[in-house]
Amino acid sequence: MQSNLKKEQKAGRFGEFGGQYIPETLMHEIDRLVNAYNYYKNDPTFKKELTDLLHKYANRPSLLYHAQKMSNDLAGAQIYFKREDLNHTGSHKINNVLGQILLAKKMKKTRVIAETGAGQHGVATATVAALMGMECEIFMGEVDIKRQSLNVYRMQLLGAKVHSVTTGTGTLKDAVNAAMQEWASRTADTHYVIGSVMGPHPFPTMVRDFQACISAEIKNQLIKETGKLPDAVVACVGGGSNAIGAFYHFIKDKNVRLIGCEAAGKGVDTQKHAATLERGTTGIFHGMKSIFLQNDDGQIDEVYSISAGLDYPGIGPEHAELAAKNRAEYVGITDDEAVAAFEYLAREEGIIAAIESCHAVAYVKKIAPQMNSSQIIVCNLSGRGDKDVAAIARYRGEKIYD
Ligand SMILES: *Cc1c(COP(=O)(O)O)cnc(C)c1O
Repeated sequence: MQSNLKKEQKAGRFGEFGGQYIPETLMHEIDRLVNAYNYYKNDPTFKKELTDLLHKYANRPSLLYHAQKMSNDLAGAQIYFKREDLNHTGSHKINNVLGQILLAKKMKKTRVIAETGAGQHGVATATVAALMGMECEIFMGEVDIKRQSLNVYRMQLLGAKVHSVTTGTGTLKDAVNAAMQEWASRTADTHYVIGSVMGPHPFPTMVRDFQACISAEIKNQLIKETGKLPDAVVACVGGGSNAIGAFYHFIKDKNVRLIGCEAAGKGVDTQKHAATLERGTTGIFHGMKSIFLQNDDGQIDEVYSISAGLDYPGIGPEHAELAAKNRAEYVGITDDEAVAAFEYLAREEGIIAAIESCHAVAYVKKIAPQMNSSQIIVCNLSGRGDKDVAAIARYRGEKIYD
């Protein structure tokens, strides 16, 4: 019994979710990674190097900004934004990538590979690979390559090679499969930098730890400014890394509502959404047991969202457990609501945030008016919105060149 329990913990379980569902060819390398991570996460030199990089290269701590104008306009709770959009490369992704590539260096790797959907994680990986002198190859679905040609060129400028993945639907889930296969065939010099809190253990735990600086900072900054904890923390959820980063240090504070916003696309009753926790079922995919959008035979559904970063058919196992235990709430936000929030935030606060992040902003717009002015909502702005301007213009039927 005791040893079974230990084995489960070792395999990175979150309740019934998580684990390591991987081909035998990867088992040895995953064990090495678990051991290396467990060693270096407590190593003072590693911790100092990572902290220095976060401060001096990525621009941490990010600001916690009191949006007074928006708070007044909604006439309810005080709204604070955690400004991950101000990080180098424009999103929270850099936190995780700096951690993983620094770890890969310690493991004497010389090459990193990564999957990317919209290209945000690919760009962050290519950036840090350039900084640390690593070879870098990015796997990206052929459909996404066409949709995000600017990010493809950006990765090439940074010295990365971009592989077009033509299997399946040619999108993010297929890019994960391709990167996983590449890793299994070449582990000696290569680390696979997974971009969210997903995949086999140790990734959901390790990526969570690298993103937890978000909630550690929020807690310090908010207590310093107001002497209080927030009443609610709101974040968008794709795989779930910015959300778990924003939630983590509040999980034990039972009075803090934790709210994840999924992409409801054109509506959860259509075939065009990515609302995994609202409409998904338990399954095993991409090396983990979690909740997925899938048919009765376990075939993974095609998913859709206006925001490429939320367009994933699964969710990290820790979120699946937080949902099962009712510790966190998960809500769906449609394209229409997210676009309206994108425009509202720009005009109200002068911030053009990522369309992903605007799923969280849209929910803040719904709940703030139901709260009173002594209550506090912290909303995580996971990224900046420059990349989305052309898509928003198209959504509104504007004729622009892009
Ligand atoms: C990638 C991305 C997301 C979604 O990923 P999570 O792992 O769910 O955080 C959200 N916002 C931005 C800006 C992104 O680039």
